[in-house]
Amino acid sequence: MNILLIYPACPDTFWGFRHALDFISKKAVHPPLGILTVAAMLPGEWEKKVVDMNVSRLKDKDVDWADMVFISAMAVQKKSAEKVIARCKSKGKMTVAGGPLFSASPDDFPTVDHLVLNEAEITLPEFLRDLADGKPQRMYSSDAFPELEHTPVPMWELLDIKKYASMDIQYSRGCPFDCDFCDITTLFGRNVRTKNKWHVLTELEQLYFTGWRGNVFFVDDNFIGNKAKLKQDVLPAMIEWQKKRKNPFVFSTEVSVNVADDESLLRLMVEAGFASVFVGIETPEEESLVGCNKKQNTRRNLVESVKKIQAFGLEVAGGFIVGFDNDSPSIFSKQIEFIKKSGIITAMVGLLNAPRNSKLYKRLKSENRLIQDCTGNNTDFSINFIPKMDVSRLMEGYQTILKEIYSYKPYYERVMEFLKAKQTEAKRSLRFRPTYIKAFFQSMVVLGIKDRGRLYFWKLFFWSLFKRPRVLPLAITYAIYGFHFRKVFNV
Ligand code: SF4
Repeated sequence: MNILLIYPACPDTFWGFRHALDFISKKAVHPPLGILTVAAMLPGEWEKKVVDMNVSRLKDKDVDWADMVFISAMAVQKKSAEKVIARCKSKGKMTVAGGPLFSASPDDFPTVDHLVLNEAEITLPEFLRDLADGKPQRMYSSDAFPELEHTPVPMWELLDIKKYASMDIQYSRGCPFDCDFCDITTLFGRNVRTKNKWHVLTELEQLYFTGWRGNVFFVDDNFIGNKAKLKQDVLPAMIEWQKKRKNPFVFSTEVSVNVADDESLLRLMVEAGFASVFVGIETPEEESLVGCNKKQNTRRNLVESVKKIQAFGLEVAGGFIVGFDNDSPSIFSKQIEFIKKSGIITAMVGLLNAPRNSKLYKRLKSENRLIQDCTGNNTDFSINFIPKMDVSRLMEGYQTILKEIYSYKPYYERVMEFLKAKQTEAKRSLRFRPTYIKAFFQSMVVLGIKDRGRLYFWKLFFWSLFKRPRVLPLAITYAIYGFHFRKVFNV
């Protein structure tokens, strides 16, 4: 059997960093981890080929070669996935689809031959067994959440890793919290399932032997869902491994804000090589946090929590949302003030949307306020329900936030403030890689000559060069990020 595994194209999004990738000659930030893991679950004797449409074109000869085509996608890839399915069908190929997009709305894909939904550890073996028996069903789904101990190591050898800015690894699935706008707990449960330390080390070792060095992102929904296991078992093992291998990887991940309450955990994460974390801040308005059941963010000074995480040497990227029912008219200025005060450079500000499997979706449906499915793209200015606030006021306020935090002057000022306050320089700042040389010279041309904000760029550049040379790589990195943010938000 020849199996073609396709990862459809993503549109231009905040997290895609498309406008920044060119500086380091990369095509995508993240590899298609799910499809590489599925590839490892297929019979060893099958021939496999992966086409990630974010880094290369899908060619007719690839489709012609295949006996069966596997497609995995998220909501944001829906348009591209539909085209891929139509193209494979027109060539008479058998299609098998899975992943969050298909699991959330299987009825939207009537032409797919086989839908293998939810977690592949359960449904894929069932499909393969029936296929071998010559009686594959159209749909396989399951409410069960499998343990991760038998999840295989992704087949990295199917990928050209040089095209990516980061490699990914998964340690856990699920989240103990239950924010109403989030579909993670429906998809993966509130009981956090983890791999053991040997599993994690094996995956790191495999990545190491592919030749990969540099950024590794833990794709976990909430990396600190099981703090005790992390502190006693996994992080100490990672620290030892990093030492033994001379710190080849710089880690990042997603955590809930209560990481700030656990100093020993923060210390261990930094020692293991974590340089940055994404934290869902959502909103500085307590009522909105209570309303969406984001309990872990309530009854605390969120700016202080962010500062504390930063003080341990971790950069904090933050998620922010406007459009909650409880948002007051002053929410826009409060968000701007919060982002400025907290020193968060990478601030993903989006409009509230309700994914299909979320509690919010159910509530809005019962209130007859749903308009459409959410696109999964936080930067396309779409909202899939009727908000309490007047829509034009919401859009206007949202645009004001974006302008206030991403136009040249406030953005470069925020970067400068952050770097001035930064006491602990992450290991990453001290490393110099060949791709940085290209990024350095290209930033001189694009940001220092061609860009309208060149004066701000040079101010930041010379300040870092003469006052804090150790943060110069970080200053240039943030200048490049700013270029991307202004492009995606069109400010
Ligand atoms: S903490 Fe994050 S992953 Fe967990 S339920 Fe809330 S939004 Fe979802």
